[in-house]
Amino acid sequence: MSASAPPLRRLFHYARRHRRRIRAATTFSTLNKIFDIAPPLLIGVAVDVVVERDDSLLATWGIETLQAQLWSLAGLTLVIWMLESLFEYLHGVWWRNLAQTIQHELRIDAYSHVQRLELAYFEDQSSGELMSILNDDVNQLERFLDIGANEIIQVSTTVISIGTIFFILAPSIAWLAFLPIPIILWGSFRFQRRIAPRYADVREKVGELNSRLANNLGGITTIKSFTREAYEADRVADDSTSYQASNRRAIRLSSAFSPLIRMAIVIGFTFTLVFGGLQVGEGRLDVGAYSVMVFLTQRLLWPLTRLGETFDLYQRAMASTNRILDLLDLEPKIESGTQELPATGVAGHIEFDRVTFHYRRGTPVLEAVDIDIAPGETTAFVGPTGSGKTTIVKLLLRLYDVVGGSIRLDGHDLRDLRTDDLRRAVGLVSQDVFLFHGTVVENIAYGRPGAGRDEIVAAARAAEAHDFIVDLPDGYETVVGERGQKLSGGQRQRISIARAVLKDPPIFIFDEATSAVDNETEAAIQRSIERLSVDRTTIVIAHRLSTIRNAERIYVIDSGRVVEAGTHRELVDHDGIYRSLWLVQTGEAVEHHRHTG
Ligand code: ADP
Ligand code: MG
Repeated sequence: MSASAPPLRRLFHYARRHRRRIRAATTFSTLNKIFDIAPPLLIGVAVDVVVERDDSLLATWGIETLQAQLWSLAGLTLVIWMLESLFEYLHGVWWRNLAQTIQHELRIDAYSHVQRLELAYFEDQSSGELMSILNDDVNQLERFLDIGANEIIQVSTTVISIGTIFFILAPSIAWLAFLPIPIILWGSFRFQRRIAPRYADVREKVGELNSRLANNLGGITTIKSFTREAYEADRVADDSTSYQASNRRAIRLSSAFSPLIRMAIVIGFTFTLVFGGLQVGEGRLDVGAYSVMVFLTQRLLWPLTRLGETFDLYQRAMASTNRILDLLDLEPKIESGTQELPATGVAGHIEFDRVTFHYRRGTPVLEAVDIDIAPGETTAFVGPTGSGKTTIVKLLLRLYDVVGGSIRLDGHDLRDLRTDDLRRAVGLVSQDVFLFHGTVVENIAYGRPGAGRDEIVAAARAAEAHDFIVDLPDGYETVVGERGQKLSGGQRQRISIARAVLKDPPIFIFDEATSAVDNETEAAIQRSIERLSVDRTTIVIAHRLSTIRNAERIYVIDSGRVVEAGTHRELVDHDGIYRSLWLVQTGEAVEHHRHTG
């Protein structure tokens, strides 16, 4: 179903699995309304009974005595009221359960879908915005299905059934009662058109507010350390104020609706009252029919006053529906290939062939990059910050697709490979570690759920994390806090290495894994890398050249180009960037090396 289709149709299409439940709930709502309209009819029959006596409707049906007529009327009333209650209960339960089911499915579907979208999507989208779709919009829809859908069905039932009754009872004045309806509908639709953009604006404002809140809570340490609490509180207040203002604009319009419609209703009511009464006086209308009409006019027109609120709910729900379904309609730009990568026996031969890449058109990040990483070897990338090293890693994980050229793993173009297989083959340890709220064990086992305790401990030992873990308050069961904030940076880094070690991938990548840690941790990580890289394709990106000097091959990246490549010895002997970097970092070592070697 295309995104330009009306939102209600899109919603039905989405919920087509539940067609039968929707139909049942609709039936219950309709029956409930019909039995709800019946009592005024019974009043008419009762008036008929006491006024007409032997000529009454019931008498013509063969119920002769007044007593029998009244008792049968009472019995009928009882049955109708019971049925009304029964269907009231049923439609309540069915619509609410449907609302629960659909909101649950939508939320899960939308979340799973979002996870499949490419990384670039998340960079353009704020997480608060996404949160507001996954939470608020889904809830909005639930509210509509809870009450709005039933309302709409019942109003339609009311208009149709009361209309039928009127035209049977008194065709000559029935149209008077219906006079206001076109005005009400016209007003409603005008209202609907004018309110829709205001609600869209409200949704947008709440998205911005959410995004600010999420961002600030995530950066609370920064806020505190720069003592910017007052400033941030102001910014939140600004966003909240503009949300409030946006809502006010919507409220101003929506509140004007009911009073206006009420005026239209009173016209229909008084006309029926007066002209119906006149006809009774002239003997052209039965008293019973007249009383039915007076009562039913109210029943007909009053629910229409709620049409405003219902449209309101409908509008909000449809704005939300569009946002959710638009999200679900987004096609992931990076599609998995079909070529399988063997679970074991990935050699890890990586080739970049004239790779060009940019995040945004016009600002090239990589240009004609040729890289050849031999299986089982350790390769290093060095270069100034912003030169494109991390980008190379992201391309290798196929978090982005190359713009030109190609990348191959063991001879397969990455775009042909199943992305799951590809990513399973790579263990990435990066500078900004992300730990999940949970225990140390859960975080280490993240990439291999179901790993045994001894394997987890072995991985922790390999990452030189075991010793500090057992010293934590609850050892391996210590809860690390959101994003692992209860641990030090070095501890988090070592747990992230243990996590990669447990995954035991054929290819390891360390992207500035030692940049943000103390000397002791750096040395520990250095030892882990050396141990892990034996006979395994390993890529190390590091600032400090001493940490990569043993790599079999070093690529020097500058402004998105490979400017030098070779072993440490070759590069130091060559008068280039690497050599000058090396001189800056450890000038003495070079001098010494020169003199002795
Ligand atoms: P390095 O890891 O060598 O420090 P990166 O590969 O992270 O450098 O970044 C290379 C260039 O690409 C930088 O100029 C950076 O600003 C830019 N860049 C990185 N990530 C993105 C992104 N998601 N969107 C736009 N530009 C980006
Ligand atoms: Mg980087």
